[in-house]
Amino acid sequence: MISPRPTLYRDAALADPTGPSLRKEVSLLVDAGHVVWIRPSTDEGDLPPSVHVIDAGGSTIVPGMVDAHSHVTLPGGSHWIDRGADPPDELLDVAEHNGDLLGRAGVRWARDVGSPLAVDPRDGQRRALALRVRERWRSDPNRPRIRVAGTWIGHSGVLTGGLAIEADDGPALLKAASTQLDDGADFLKLYLDGPKKEEAPWSTEDVRAVVELAHGRGAKVTAHSGFLVGARVGIDAGVDSLEHGFELDSDAVATMARQGTFLVSTLAIFRSWASFAQTTTLPRFVSDEGKERIARRRERAIESVRLAYRAGVSIATGTDFGGGSLRANHLAWEVEALVEAGLKPWEALASATVRGGELLEEREAGRIVEGGPADFFLVHGDPLTDPTALWRVWRVAWLAE
Ligand SMILES: [Zn+2]
Repeated sequence: MISPRPTLYRDAALADPTGPSLRKEVSLLVDAGHVVWIRPSTDEGDLPPSVHVIDAGGSTIVPGMVDAHSHVTLPGGSHWIDRGADPPDELLDVAEHNGDLLGRAGVRWARDVGSPLAVDPRDGQRRALALRVRERWRSDPNRPRIRVAGTWIGHSGVLTGGLAIEADDGPALLKAASTQLDDGADFLKLYLDGPKKEEAPWSTEDVRAVVELAHGRGAKVTAHSGFLVGARVGIDAGVDSLEHGFELDSDAVATMARQGTFLVSTLAIFRSWASFAQTTTLPRFVSDEGKERIARRRERAIESVRLAYRAGVSIATGTDFGGGSLRANHLAWEVEALVEAGLKPWEALASATVRGGELLEEREAGRIVEGGPADFFLVHGDPLTDPTALWRVWRVAWLAE
């Protein structure tokens, strides 16, 4: 909520994820939802007469984070796939709960990479549910700022439950892409895993035609990529980003770095699944075979991110909450996972802030600058050296006090 009077956060540390060191003894003045100035606490100068001073001693100011892979209409948990078939009204309530969770975890931006199709009561058309959430949240400063991909576009036989648009050849793919943009999607999400693991669902030419269509209309294209064969098609076709990238090799990451193709990491889902071995009775998580399979895929996925990092690929990051098993307030888990994959903690925080902003082409997302929005939160500890500090949220500047 925009406070009616100026607020001064006094004597905090400031975490700028473009480098490894905190700036200490910082005072930051907010007015009308914007950062007025950032000054040394020992030299604040004149203060506005009605200022509300918050003693932020011992805490660290962190830029509002960007969850670059999220599904705002879905709840996550061990039954995350089943929940996609819940009635639209329930999913809209889920989105409101997720909006609370995101904000309180310090997440300012959510990039929604797929929501179920549902009939829109206003005109009887079936369109992606997250588009309605975007409209609801647009005018509410307490809610996350979101960008929405519409629904998933996949080959038949891949995504269950009638959640997605199916397209089995080039013309159908192009038509699906065009429909999504007509519906108001901010960008497109292609599902580049096919019905057969060893084959991509579409040709490079088919995907390139979609990229050209989208770029011509000012929209980006991203692609779910679980396997190398689909990743290659996406990279060669010029998609703007790959989601997950669980099976990349050195060729793939070299081309991504050269082209400026982003990778959006989602490694924490493997941590989440490993936790289900303790907390559920589901055979896919509990059985020896299931545990081995998850551990194997996890190792390969970590290796992919490590390769991408070493090759200089821009890495944004997300929880995959809802479309995977994490919950909306778990982005810190993914930052921890990026550190395991070799990123320095401040670089992992950059992935969860500025890199996400760059992917969205939102200049102010994930940054704190004088004159910019007061989109920051305060934690205890130093997130530039310890990602677990991100779990210890004390207050969130943009939320009602
Ligand atoms: Zn997802």
